[in-house]
Amino acid sequence: MLIMALLMPDVQADDDIRLQLRWHHQFQFAGYYMALEQGYYQQAGLKVTIVPGAPGISALEQLLAGKALFAVSAPGAVLAYLQGRPVVAMATVLQKSPNVWLVRADSDIYTLQDLASSKLELSLTQENAEFLAVFAKEGIDISKLQLTNSSMKLDDLISGKTDAFNGYLSNEPYLLEQLGIPYRVIQPVEYGVNFYQDILIGNADWVRQHPKQAAAFRQASLDGWQFALDNIDYTVNYIHQHYAPEKSIAHLHYEANVIRSLVMPDLVELGHMNPERWQQIAASYQALGMVKTLRPLDNFIYAEPVPTDYRLLIKSVLLLLLVITLLAFFTLRYRRLASALQAEMNRHAQTERLLVERNEELLQLASTDILTGLTNRRVIIQQAQTEIRRASRYQKDLAVMMLDIDHFKQVNDQYGHAAGDRVLAEFAALCMQSIRDSDLAGRYGGEEFFILMPEIDLTTAILSAERLRMTVAAHPFKLSDGRELSVSCSIGIAMYMPQQDDLDKLLLRADQALYQAKHQGRNRCCVQQ
Ligand code: GH3
Ligand code: MG
Ligand code: MG
Repeated sequence: MLIMALLMPDVQADDDIRLQLRWHHQFQFAGYYMALEQGYYQQAGLKVTIVPGAPGISALEQLLAGKALFAVSAPGAVLAYLQGRPVVAMATVLQKSPNVWLVRADSDIYTLQDLASSKLELSLTQENAEFLAVFAKEGIDISKLQLTNSSMKLDDLISGKTDAFNGYLSNEPYLLEQLGIPYRVIQPVEYGVNFYQDILIGNADWVRQHPKQAAAFRQASLDGWQFALDNIDYTVNYIHQHYAPEKSIAHLHYEANVIRSLVMPDLVELGHMNPERWQQIAASYQALGMVKTLRPLDNFIYAEPVPTDYRLLIKSVLLLLLVITLLAFFTLRYRRLASALQAEMNRHAQTERLLVERNEELLQLASTDILTGLTNRRVIIQQAQTEIRRASRYQKDLAVMMLDIDHFKQVNDQYGHAAGDRVLAEFAALCMQSIRDSDLAGRYGGEEFFILMPEIDLTTAILSAERLRMTVAAHPFKLSDGRELSVSCSIGIAMYMPQQDDLDKLLLRADQALYQAKHQGRNRCCVQQ
């Protein structure tokens, strides 16, 4: 259904549209002939009949009487609109008016003021209001003009029956030239009255009810005009052959050139109408008393309906779908990437945690003796250095103990190496239990141990060493097979001596104290001062 709707032409082909011209066939209507001849109307699905005008026939009245849907009219059509009649201005063909006063060159008439005191022939129709508007604008009392209704015969000007004659720049001047009669033109535009002319008007009711056809008709007509102005020779010949055989090719050419200069296709878009200029035209009529009150011309000036273009709609929908699809695609992709990134970050954090744990473990391993769980020799010496510095700086006491299990070789020999290990571990546990939180016990090597005791005086250090020695001696060391054994230990104690001590000296004295304890029979504590 939708495809069918897209392929179908916008308008039906069998509508008969009558276009009423405002005068006999001539180049003045070239665009419409060409729209027909070039098939523009047909391509738009329109069947158009062009009806010529004649003296006494008003194109506007024909349209208002329902005898034509469109007409080529004068700007006086706006009066009909202001009186509430259904008329709409579709487009203007002539941007400048061809309406001129013609006077003989041998007359004394040069200006509008001169005209005001001369005999004037004028077709007194609404369509010719422009001629009067110019007087009104100049402040000349129209009721005092010597006006007679035009005979439409140029002879009246030639014979002197009238001093001035209303003519069309594209027509009468040519005839006067042909007759060899010199003339002058007085143009309303020179006095600031600048009316549109040859306006394509439409029956407003019909246009409202058939917006697509009306728009198509307007466009095809303007296309016809474009063709005619682009192909003047062809158009002139065609009009001469088919419409106006009585007009010579030369006359039609003359007319074509004047018309082209008034259409101004190089300056103004074909058909263009300026709402402000229409307001000025309406105001001119008001000044002439031809209309009492003005009202907005919005409905008089044709505005092309905004077409419902299904193709555009479909394109827009497709584009929207594409955008949505792309958005969805990128959102999904983004989410996937984001979750992958999050997973990666989690993994990274996990790895980092593990690494920290491993590092801590390694650090622990590096600083701990595996068998006993005590601080190893490297770290206990480091700690001893630190404590010496602190004791020295703050003048605090510092005691160290060097412990060695007595006759440990025998334990190994008697119970086996594994039993020896158990004893070492248990001995370490006893050391840990007996020291203060601020003390630090370490395995110095083999069956030798070392205890750092900051901020402790000699007496307390000795007491503490003695208590540990007794605990060890009284402790039943349990073997895996249930047997129990006793071991003893010897302890050397040394106090840090500020000013004269360093670590080596302190350790040496502790070692000497231990040697002394061994020498004195073991299972005892000795102090090296
Ligand atoms: P003293 O009373 O003079 O200290 O005699 P001792 O036998 O304890 O001294 P010695 O230095 O002659 O022997 C120490 C023994 O400690 C030698 C060695 O086999 C043993 N030992 C050292 N490290 C370990 C260990 O890690 N495990 C076990 N089971 N034995 C060890
Ligand atoms: Mg030893
Ligand atoms: Mg020993």
